[in-house]
Amino acid sequence: MELSAVNLAFGYGRQRVGKNLDLQLSGGEILCLLGPNGCGKTTLFKTLLGLLPRQAGHIDLDGRDLNEYSRAGIARRMAYVPQAHEGVFAYSVHEMVLMGRNVHQGLFSGPDKADRLRATAALQDLGIADLAKRDYTRLSGGQRQLVLIARALAQDAPLIVMDEPTASLDFGNQARVLAQIVRLAERGLGIVFSTHNPDHAWRYASQVLLLKDGRALACGAPEEALTERRLSEVYGLPVRVEALADHQRVCVARPASRS
Ligand code: ADP
Repeated sequence: MELSAVNLAFGYGRQRVGKNLDLQLSGGEILCLLGPNGCGKTTLFKTLLGLLPRQAGHIDLDGRDLNEYSRAGIARRMAYVPQAHEGVFAYSVHEMVLMGRNVHQGLFSGPDKADRLRATAALQDLGIADLAKRDYTRLSGGQRQLVLIARALAQDAPLIVMDEPTASLDFGNQARVLAQIVRLAERGLGIVFSTHNPDHAWRYASQVLLLKDGRALACGAPEEALTERRLSEVYGLPVRVEALADHQRVCVARPASRS
């Protein structure tokens, strides 16, 4: 799996959100998108997934222009994990995950036994098989997020794009979701995810794309891309980077004192 964007411009109609953006991702890599609210992360995701037409530049998926793929052709290669939403209809967890199989079914055929088994396997894979019969709308945010990742897994796409997969999760569930992301990458999947916590990039990403106002301030290995100066610029307040004993790094924000 190879995804690349060159000199990409993206936005809504003629309204520009981002431009001059380059990125490249192969199977087994984790690309973390960091940037403040409204900087264009979701818009970039939708553009990379072909849900929004690009305004300029190139997007290549496995050596072919993204525009050459059908909607189903893209979905067989890229799965999207949106932010865990409330869910309106009371689908069971298994039914939710089974929806990931839609792209492999014919126009008039429903899921078959193999699809159901694949959905069950995806739930087992994420350690949530016991939730299969539960009503999706009655799960906790962390459980819902894992179900949405299971749905993406059942889609059997080699690349998964995740929009803030740790948003609104408690500390433990964040760590669990991020550990799953690492496990999937170790199996050869390419992962793109956004987060509001720069520490997630240090710890889990092979590459980080630092976005501000739709432009890449830096893109590369976290140790090189995430300097104190750039983090301070992106988040609009002084940020210190502290090294921990086990080669980990953490960011500490230093808001201006009121005295
Ligand atoms: P992020 O995901 O980084 O918070 P978004 O990609 O959602 O940022 O938004 C980037 C910019 O695009 C914002 O200024 C936002 O107001 C604007 N925007 C988002 N959705 C739409 C839309 N459907 N139509 C027009 N502008 C939009």
